[in-house]
Amino acid sequence: MIGTRSKTNYILKKHNYRAKKKFGQNFLVEPNIIKKMVEQINEDSVIIEIGAGLGAITQAAALKAKQVIAYEIDTELVEILNDNLKEYRNIEIINEDFLKADLDKISDSYGQKVIVVSNLPYYITTYLLTKVLLSSDKIDRIIAMMQKEVADRFTRKEKGKDYNALQVMAEYYCDIKTLTKVSKNNFIPVPKVDSEILIFEIKENYQKVEDEKLLFDIVKACFSQRRKMILTNLNNNGFNIDKQELLDFGVDPASRVEHLELQDYIKIYSMIRQQL
Ligand code: SAM
Repeated sequence: MIGTRSKTNYILKKHNYRAKKKFGQNFLVEPNIIKKMVEQINEDSVIIEIGAGLGAITQAAALKAKQVIAYEIDTELVEILNDNLKEYRNIEIINEDFLKADLDKISDSYGQKVIVVSNLPYYITTYLLTKVLLSSDKIDRIIAMMQKEVADRFTRKEKGKDYNALQVMAEYYCDIKTLTKVSKNNFIPVPKVDSEILIFEIKENYQKVEDEKLLFDIVKACFSQRRKMILTNLNNNGFNIDKQELLDFGVDPASRVEHLELQDYIKIYSMIRQQL
């Protein structure tokens, strides 16, 4: 199997390849962690992997799933991947920046919801999760490894200083739980920080609003200057909100983002929609 220390070292040496920092390359070399990730997959699953690397997760996923579509931005790695995974008929490797990929098109072409799996390149974790969540009606779940500190924000109850708009969005779409913590020593090269794998399970019956873009624009506006009152933030970001009306909808205009719950954003949304 690819996802072991000895095999990874062998592949790196064979291809005279050095991990690139600019693409956030840290290769997972602990089979037990990979096993836990693929336990979430079954034989009918269609998997989209973001950032296949040397193919450690790709290979393990292909042994269980119906199909794996693996994105890798680094052309040099794609050559190595093609070599490592040539025996697998159910893997499609796509040399593309996943941020530019059309996720809806892929899931439509398989006629089923997909499972997104990724040991996320840390430098674009937020962008990638945002993109995937915006296609959540095509997704069954997201199994994502990320920096432990980032994962903590999604799982802890209290809203810290780093509470952000993506968390509100994730709460809207998903039930989130920890699969496992992962020590930094399980990667080559060893990163600076430990990791954690989260499962974002898309809720079957979430309280879907008609215009999700508007809802997230409202959330982003409220977060634009987090120490300011939400009334100020909304009005500074193109909304025209009346203080009393906001109160009538049950939201305190003087609150800051750390006081708001998902339901409050939905109330603000309902108020704005009513005025359109
Ligand atoms: N999945 C492999 C593993 O677990 O060993 C590699 C994980 S490594 C943390 C992240 C991988 O994502 C790298 O191979 C990197 O080249 C790739 N990557 C970075 N940015 C990407 C992007 N925008 N689209 C697709 N792949 C990307």
